Amino acid sequence: MNEKLRHLDDEQLLLALYGAAAPEAAAHLDACAECAAQLRRLQSRRLELAAAPLLPASDARLRAQREAVYQAIEKKRARPYWRALQAGALACSVLLAVLLYRPAPPPQETTAAHALTDQQLFNDLAEMINRDTPAAAEPLMALFAAPEEKETQTQ
Ligand SMILES: [Zn+2]
Repeated sequence: MNEKLRHLDDEQLLLALYGAAAPEAAAHLDACAECAAQLRRLQSRRLELAAAPLLPASDARLRAQREAVYQAIEKKRARPYWRALQAGALACSVLLAVLLYRPAPPPQETTAAHALTDQQLFNDLAEMINRDTPAAAEPLMALFAAPEEKETQTQ
């Protein structure tokens, strides 16, 4: 009976977004305008992103996005009950972070093809999840710290 009063959390919303909502969650969405609106927001954001593939967000921006995602992962890893929720919850948080992260407006200068795509981000994350070592983020953090130095070294 308490179920009705509880709004859907981010993970439930994401499952709904991808058509995998639990029956109770689906029922709640039918009954709750607030959660339904939130789901519509996610849906339109998802469509926006899908309609603008590989747009030139700046490397710095992408790096910041990754750092935020990796840090969120490390934080969650520290919790004891994390393991039980690991795969599903992490996938949800990552998707949510990406969906809600407003992409920067296209920069004036078209950045040359850079390697930091969402696809790569997901691949990195999948690797991290599978590897399951607490310090997995460190070498990856180094990856996006490196190019920055080159930028400051203009001939
Ligand atoms: Zn609700």
